[in-house]
Amino acid sequence: PQPPVVDPGTPSTQVKAGTAPADAIVLFDGSDLSKWRTGDGDAAWRLVDGVIESVPGGGYLTTRESFGDCQLHLEWMVPEDLEPRGGAGANSGVYLMGQYEVQILRREDRPTYPDGMAGSIYAQHPPLAAPDLPKGAWNTFDILFTAPRFDEDGSVKTPASCTVLFNGIVVQNDVDFFGRTAHMRPAAYARHPDRLPISIQHHGDTLRFRNIW
Ligand code: MG
Repeated sequence: PQPPVVDPGTPSTQVKAGTAPADAIVLFDGSDLSKWRTGDGDAAWRLVDGVIESVPGGGYLTTRESFGDCQLHLEWMVPEDLEPRGGAGANSGVYLMGQYEVQILRREDRPTYPDGMAGSIYAQHPPLAAPDLPKGAWNTFDILFTAPRFDEDGSVKTPASCTVLFNGIVVQNDVDFFGRTAHMRPAAYARHPDRLPISIQHHGDTLRFRNIW
């Protein structure tokens, strides 16, 4: 079933971009893309007026630094003036460790399957609510991620898990990932290092991002 649509109120981030806590690793504060890899000659990610904008064509945006367990804050927007290309509309997503996706997708007037909508653990867990703000407004994700632990033989000792606040509302509460994110096939784990870069998905649509820490 579709989760309930919840108006999140007016987050203070609508007024201006927030700033990171003092002890955070700042991944993007509006000034440059130096903490990220955009791929060789990849013009699909650009800095426009202090925000990151994805433009059609190109690979994922990936941190230079690697992370395991983390708290990740990110703000994203579906631009008001740009029509998404994809049938489902403005697809992106946060890939923790480059493996485990928390979905970003425009919901407004383009309903999709519950475990594919914004705030879902893609193809695994629907969000508990749909608190998206409309095109042209900034949405916030606060993700508490625990990396998986593997035994020496490569088997999963404890799965990856996460809690997600979406515009301040809990949409995932300590859920386990069934494995690496997959589309139209079962998710499975493959042993990987303790720390890996975080990626933002490029699915051919134009979205904006800011204040990432
Ligand atoms: Mg996605």
